[in-house]
Amino acid sequence: MSVCKLKGRCHCGNITADIELTSPPAALNPRACDCDFCREHGAAYISDPKGKLTLSVNEPSLLGRYHQGSGTADFLFCRQCGVLVGVSFQQAQNIYATINANIIKEAGFGDTCSASPKKLSTAEKIARWQAVWFSDVRINA
Ligand SMILES: [Zn+2]
Repeated sequence: MSVCKLKGRCHCGNITADIELTSPPAALNPRACDCDFCREHGAAYISDPKGKLTLSVNEPSLLGRYHQGSGTADFLFCRQCGVLVGVSFQQAQNIYATINANIIKEAGFGDTCSASPKKLSTAEKIARWQAVWFSDVRINA
């Protein structure tokens, strides 16, 4: 099913991401979230609800989880190099996540577009994450 496998990593390499996409990267438009936190990081996110995401962390104590905005999702960052790797949301046993496109080198994604999830209610955000984020997620930490 997957047509494209990509790898990403934080600057120091403590956190690596293995990504499987069901569409070519050029068909994905990284979403630059316009909340203050994401703008400060210059983050833009990609995800594929039919794809697969595995995050592997060498030193689990250096995986930071930051809550902002509604506090529903975990912003995942490396405590060693400070890079924001992605965002995850857990509901029961299911983990949903999206990845910061900037940690994936030379993937050739489409043009970045802007997104304003801060305008959504918490319930609307969760419904959106479940619809567009990776739903096959493993975090090895
Ligand atoms: Zn790092």
